[in-house]
Amino acid sequence: EAKKSGRGTINLFRPALQAAVANRLQLEEGLRNALGNGELQLRFQPQLGRSVGVIGAEVLLRWRHPELGYVSPVDFIPVAEETGGIHAIGTWVLTESCRHLSEWARQAVPFTGHLSINVSAWQFSRPDFVSQVFAALADYQVPPQRLMLELTESALLYDLQETIEKLRALRNHGVGIALDDFGTGYSSLAYLRDLPLDQLKIDKSFIAELSGEMEHPLVESIIDIGRNMGLVVVAEGVETGYHCQRLIELGCESFQGYLFARPLTEEDFRDWLEEEHSVVSFEQMLPMRRQ
Ligand code: C2E
Ligand code: MG
Ligand code: MG
Ligand code: MG
Repeated sequence: EAKKSGRGTINLFRPALQAAVANRLQLEEGLRNALGNGELQLRFQPQLGRSVGVIGAEVLLRWRHPELGYVSPVDFIPVAEETGGIHAIGTWVLTESCRHLSEWARQAVPFTGHLSINVSAWQFSRPDFVSQVFAALADYQVPPQRLMLELTESALLYDLQETIEKLRALRNHGVGIALDDFGTGYSSLAYLRDLPLDQLKIDKSFIAELSGEMEHPLVESIIDIGRNMGLVVVAEGVETGYHCQRLIELGCESFQGYLFARPLTEEDFRDWLEEEHSVVSFEQMLPMRRQ
């Protein structure tokens, strides 16, 4: 239908295109002031280990635009990366996360796990990235073990040699490294053995496809690879007891997803922690009890 239509059809697309460009400009313009206007917020989504309870939480950014309402990071992070705004935003996420960790420790909040922050390829590629992380930890007197950095394959593979040096420096200091969205990027696995990592995060697109009746050779392979490399394998996007059950059968023991908690405001996260999500209640979320 679209193919055989002539030049006139372009008009049909123009309004959509104009809207997209206008929206893009609006995002660019808005992002410039977002930090200064206090429009950025952090959410915290718990990560749980099957037999150990809460192991940490992922820090997820939210932008409350004065006219557009909440804009998804999926939409504004790429804009921030292209305009360079990601550096200020990334620094803010890093320092705010460290600030929360030190504040929670002072206030005896029952949280001893790590905070995982997402690091954009652009941020990671900066020559001063590692020293910036060390400085933030030192400023807030946060033990490096309390911080985990989530990086994607595209961020890590840009310059493998430099990546390895940076990761070594971070890990020697005690900072954890997670490979995010695993399974969606490069097809070659050869680089994996060279990267010093702590966690492998299975992308949520794989989890959404899990069902009890089917074989899941891909997810099973991902879990095996991670475990054979001595990594903690974390499934993201775990929404149902069924997902969780199937993941346990496939050998995955750490989870993050709506089944346990959505990304929570600081206040809700602290309430959630106070409610004490014990190992017992964790097992009760599964559809079947196992021996
Ligand atoms: P990600 O790092 O892979 O984060 C996981 C995403 O899955 C989050 O989306 C989270 O809210 C969502 N999620 C968690 N559990 C479930 C579930 O059970 N079901 C479903 N359907 N989704 C679930 P969110 O918060 O929209 O963030 C999207 C992406 O934006 C993140 O993907 C990350 O790549 C990026 N992002 C978020 N915060 C930051 C940040 O501070 N810095 C950078 N550079 N990127 C960020
Ligand atoms: Mg992540
Ligand atoms: Mg992810
Ligand atoms: Mg993802």
